[in-house]
Amino acid sequence: MKKPVKYFLYGFLGLLLIGVLFIGSFIYRVQYGLPFYESNPPTLPTEMKDFSVLLFSKTNGFPHTEAIEAALPAFKKMAQKNDWTLYPTNNGAVFNSAQLAKFDVVLWSNATGRNLTDEQRKAFRAYIEGGGGFVGIHGTGDASHHWDWYYENLIGAHFSHHPLNPQIQAGTINLECDSMSNYPCMGLPNNTKRSDEWYVFTDNPREKGFTVLYTLDESDLVMSGNIPLLVDDKDFGMGADHPIVWYKCLPNNGRTFYSAMGHTGASFSEPMNLDLLERGIKWAGKTIGSCE
Ligand SMILES: [Zn+2]
Repeated sequence: MKKPVKYFLYGFLGLLLIGVLFIGSFIYRVQYGLPFYESNPPTLPTEMKDFSVLLFSKTNGFPHTEAIEAALPAFKKMAQKNDWTLYPTNNGAVFNSAQLAKFDVVLWSNATGRNLTDEQRKAFRAYIEGGGGFVGIHGTGDASHHWDWYYENLIGAHFSHHPLNPQIQAGTINLECDSMSNYPCMGLPNNTKRSDEWYVFTDNPREKGFTVLYTLDESDLVMSGNIPLLVDDKDFGMGADHPIVWYKCLPNNGRTFYSAMGHTGASFSEPMNLDLLERGIKWAGKTIGSCE
């Protein structure tokens, strides 16, 4: 073989190998999460206000970088307006009982993957079972967490896929107002059209005792998550009842609120979406609504 041909072949094979490794590690990260953990808890502010929110955006799984970066200043502004303490950290070691006890709400803003150790998960579970509040946004409901208790109690559904062609679509969401006893029926008005990456779940949280606040009208959307040559069994949506925001009262007055919206950075500059999240945080922190 002539030398230039040989070099070309080696170069090509080398690039192919790098490409396969890159794609392979990305798929592994998205599906399982990379095993990065922290063991030294952060130092919390000495002065905490009456209402405090722990903002956690650790991404051992898919990194929604744009959305996470856009969410931080939006939540900071929200905290300032409401006189909350907002403590943003990606240090999983904050999930210990002493520090969690200082927060009214734990807010997972696109936190993905197996991002806590078993010990940290235990502390988080005890916090929720002791009456803590949880708010989850978008990626926190994807399939990368691999934690049965979390899906059953906090998310209430199992992620299947999201549309890929196109990935971001303008969809209409409808507000269900039969939930007034637990939640002020406001935020995004009924029949709002907005763009997002719309999650599809294999089961319906409504059937697991969650109260659905918004559903997505799929009728003018392409819900398929198929990938040519790789995935051919994801050409489906959730049909006529496609929940997109929901919540549930948990034992001991614990509360969970989840919005599957929030893939894009723009989601966090939409006043009505921020209003919805603000109400979700207040509800999870028991300053509005009730669980009786
Ligand atoms: Zn997303």
